[in-house]
Amino acid sequence: MKVFKFGGASVNSIERIKNLGPILVEFKAEKLVVIISAMGKTTNALEKVAEAFFAGNKDLALNLFHDIKTNHLAIAQQLMTKGFTDCEMQLADFFTEIEWLLHDKPVRDYDYYYDQVVCLGELLSTCILSHYLNEAGISNKWVDVRDLIRTDNNFRDANINWEFSTEKILHLMNQPIGQSSILITQGFIGATDDNESSTLGREGSDYTAAIFANILEAESLTIWKDVAAVMNADPKVFQDAVSIPVLNYTEVIEMAYYGAQVIHPKTIKPLQNKGIPLHVKCFLDSSLAGTQIQNNHIKDLPPIIVLKPNQVLVTMTTTDFSFVGDHHMRELYGLMETMHLKPNLMQTGAISLMISLDDQPEKISRLAQAASGIFEVQVEKGLTLLTIRHYTPATIEQHVADKIAVLQQQSRDTLQFLY
Ligand code: ASP
Ligand code: MG
Repeated sequence: MKVFKFGGASVNSIERIKNLGPILVEFKAEKLVVIISAMGKTTNALEKVAEAFFAGNKDLALNLFHDIKTNHLAIAQQLMTKGFTDCEMQLADFFTEIEWLLHDKPVRDYDYYYDQVVCLGELLSTCILSHYLNEAGISNKWVDVRDLIRTDNNFRDANINWEFSTEKILHLMNQPIGQSSILITQGFIGATDDNESSTLGREGSDYTAAIFANILEAESLTIWKDVAAVMNADPKVFQDAVSIPVLNYTEVIEMAYYGAQVIHPKTIKPLQNKGIPLHVKCFLDSSLAGTQIQNNHIKDLPPIIVLKPNQVLVTMTTTDFSFVGDHHMRELYGLMETMHLKPNLMQTGAISLMISLDDQPEKISRLAQAASGIFEVQVEKGLTLLTIRHYTPATIEQHVADKIAVLQQQSRDTLQFLY
């Protein structure tokens, strides 16, 4: 069995949706679990609906939702003839659920409503895809992943209940529906013990695919993207970016951590733990080799360059000239942990501490405020973190020489440069 994941860009037009059929047919000898994201920018559009609703702008929320609804119905109509009525009925149920919610007044916290609304993108895309493929002769079964993936109620960044989800997924596979050769389901979403929808964090569909691959001990996971392969740098920024044919889990998790938009960082652990190979392939041309990611040690990787924009540097100095010691560190880590803030780069000195973090303005000012009890705090914004793995003198010359660092760190294989 193989697990496939198709992201939003692979289903963002009629043409691209139709392109999925031939890819699935190519693998018709295999049993496939296919995880799909919301179409194109649907998740962003649904976020706007949730925001408007929570701000009390019911009419705006309903209008924005109406647009999403019309778009999806139009796509379904263009894709199908006889299958359209059934598809429309299923879509209507999803729409109604949200419209009911939007007519209420918010009484719970924002993250809860966010998940109830935003989870819809994946339900709509998979519903349309499944009906379309069935009409096109590619027989498949649609499954509501909220019946399979159980999470806690940490809405917007929910944690998986592995035991429960494993039992559900394995049970499904023993049912007639689980025996069909193509199962289609949603990435990114799950449900809590109370059957409320939850989401796993933006771009979380890769993670869902890895969860399925892990639980089903799949032969491999293939993430279908609009690029030929994983590149050593963002080709939109660096014209000399090259494809990397073979990578390992460590390298990918490092790249994702430093900010490369390759694969969701949570994806690697479930695969690594069961030794499941990850392929990154191009849905625009499935004959391209793509990138193979496995456990092996790889020699001779090219320098890998990652830019993480939108950084802040928080400099903290002890007010009474005491050394930055254990208790300062403990308190600071405690603060960051409770605020869900993750340092990207950190350096300690005799009486000062420097931390680079993603700029989340509200959280950063809360951190600065809280830390000002212990330290004198300075915040510098608008910075970029450049990370070079496997750097060479030439890459340093090319990328670093003309920049002025506010903080810099270098280990045997990684150079980080905040500017
Ligand atoms: N649709 C979700 C998002 O845009 C999940 C995903 O695409 O992986 O974040
Ligand atoms: Mg996506």
